[in-house]
Amino acid sequence: MRLLLVEDDRALGQGIRIALGCEGYTLDWLQDGVSALHALRSESFDLLLLDLGLPRLDGLALLQHLRGEHLDLPVLILTARDGTAERIAGLDAGADDYLIKPFDVDELKARIRALLRRSQGRAQPVLEHAGVCLDPVTQQVSWHGNNVVVTPMEYQLLHQLLARPGKVVTRERLSRALYGWQERVESNTLEVLIHNLRKKLASELIRTVRGVGYVLELKP
Ligand code: CA
Repeated sequence: MRLLLVEDDRALGQGIRIALGCEGYTLDWLQDGVSALHALRSESFDLLLLDLGLPRLDGLALLQHLRGEHLDLPVLILTARDGTAERIAGLDAGADDYLIKPFDVDELKARIRALLRRSQGRAQPVLEHAGVCLDPVTQQVSWHGNNVVVTPMEYQLLHQLLARPGKVVTRERLSRALYGWQERVESNTLEVLIHNLRKKLASELIRTVRGVGYVLELKP
């Protein structure tokens, strides 16, 4: 699961990053609305944690852009205690839930889990292609009807490829979907994951486009 946090308060951002670090999410953190809008347009996230008072483009305007462009990821607003009008405006603009600062990290985690559960059940259809089937709700993968056990990283990688069959998915996009921006990635990690998936599914299913990325073949 990849989460985007947009928060310009450095101490709070740091705190959230640490709190969520042990939950197994990939968390990217941006500190202004314009960078966040660019990121949300070009990459896929499973959930947005959004502060409303942000430099360059405030959270409410960002949210209106998102919903206007039909980017319908779940949005959890982080807002100040006295911001009742802001909260209502946020919900009206399409936020799914809100938390009042300062909040308890356990409550934050619970709200995130609830939103992810809801969105997984609602919006994500089973992806099926060339004999591979991936169910985002149960997180199960099968190959011609037989269950295949994959690791969480292999699952994420396959999900990225299955969402764009026949199209080249760049190494950068894959790395970011798996690790976000913050962490250094061993240069051969992707190769290892691809190798494992080929072994578990079929070697001809995933084609390497040298120096660019990988394609899930239309007719392996
Ligand atoms: Ca702020």
